[in-house]
Amino acid sequence: MTEKLSGNQTCGIIGASHAGVNFAFALRKEGWKGEIVLIDSDTDLPYHRPPLSKTYLHSAEALGKNLLKSAESYANEDIQLMLGVKVLFIDRHAQKVELDTGTWQVYDKLVLATGARALIPNIKGLAQAKHVFPLRTAADVTGIRNKISANPGQEVVIIGGGYIGLETAASLRKLGARVTVLERESRTLARVTVPEMSVFFEKLQEENGVKILCNKQVISIGEDRNGVQVNCADGTSYFAEMLVLGVGIQVNDELASAAGLQIENGIRVDGTCRTEDENIYAIGDCTEHFNPHYGRYIRLECVQNAVDQAKIAAAAICGKGVLYDALPWFWSDQYEVKLQMVGLSAGYDEAVLRKEGDKIFSIWYFKGEELLAIDAVNSAKAYVWGTKFLKSGDQVDKSKLKDISVELKAIGR
Ligand code: NAP
Repeated sequence: MTEKLSGNQTCGIIGASHAGVNFAFALRKEGWKGEIVLIDSDTDLPYHRPPLSKTYLHSAEALGKNLLKSAESYANEDIQLMLGVKVLFIDRHAQKVELDTGTWQVYDKLVLATGARALIPNIKGLAQAKHVFPLRTAADVTGIRNKISANPGQEVVIIGGGYIGLETAASLRKLGARVTVLERESRTLARVTVPEMSVFFEKLQEENGVKILCNKQVISIGEDRNGVQVNCADGTSYFAEMLVLGVGIQVNDELASAAGLQIENGIRVDGTCRTEDENIYAIGDCTEHFNPHYGRYIRLECVQNAVDQAKIAAAAICGKGVLYDALPWFWSDQYEVKLQMVGLSAGYDEAVLRKEGDKIFSIWYFKGEELLAIDAVNSAKAYVWGTKFLKSGDQVDKSKLKDISVELKAIGR
């Protein structure tokens, strides 16, 4: 039996979201017999984040329905949960972390699953303004729900037309709010998809009564008796009774940085999720890792990556020879539309459209003959077959792709 599995060691985990919680349970599954201590500054029992901007927001369901694990599961697996506790400092030499409770927690192995926080932009007047909500935590969404339930038809401005902005717009429309999205790029979802997809989602939002305004850089927030005045660089202003921020995230890499670990676009880890310190691993949104499929270092902001890296780190800590080689996938729900994305389209030189119906289509991204990624709208088939081709490395016949009379299974070669 290796020393790690003998029961004398402690594994500390900082961050109890998708990455940290999945890691804790995976570590037990891999045979770790020692202590597992999972620390998070959030006081809520760890929950799924994707529903926050979707069902948790518009259906007012209880947070208890969205727990990553039940309270008993932690006890059953002997995982010690320290909620409402913040780690202040990592002492790598002494292998212990300082807590804001005034105590220290020792570790033999430490896993950083610190994720990211909502970016609060440096906009004049924002810090002093009332009725402003970021959307990253359950507490943020509870605040939005409470505000909207007091007056469902209120005027809402959302800054940012990324996933948070558009999913929140859809949810708030369902609740009856009047919603305007201000995006500073020339199109929404510019960071994650092609112009054709942005056009589709902008039209979908507009059909559902959301005002989408692009090329709108918000530069200041002014007070208004009943809400706020949102001012843009082009001189236009918008009144809002509630302002929601969906302008991206900021990686929580400060602890790692202060500990002297390598930070690039996130905490740099190897194929086993280990940092340059043999006793410290990092997983999830906060990591920059090498993706063998695309041959480059990347940082991913998605549940898939958090869960897959959790499994890899747990296996590696327990002495198994595994390497991270997962294909990224994402999804977004807005109204009756389900968008599923697999792979990374960055660097594509051709995007091929396969149109199966008004709101059923997929976009296939290529670099030369190499298939890089697929975005599928209401088309599980395209998502499933696309994933299969990406994983197998099979070439895809582009000319047949556009012809929907040819079944997807017949286009690989
Ligand atoms: P995002 O994808 O980075 O989109 C934010 C958008 O806001 C960008 O287009 C940005 O433009 C724009 N923006 C920034 N500052 C602005 C300003 N002052 N005025 C107007 N527009 C401004 O981030 P997000 O939508 O907030 O999402 C946050 C995180 O949650 C991401 O990791 C995302 O992947 C994740 N998430 C994922 C899902 C999903 O997978 N379905 C759902 C929700 C959230 P620039 O590009 O010019 O900065």
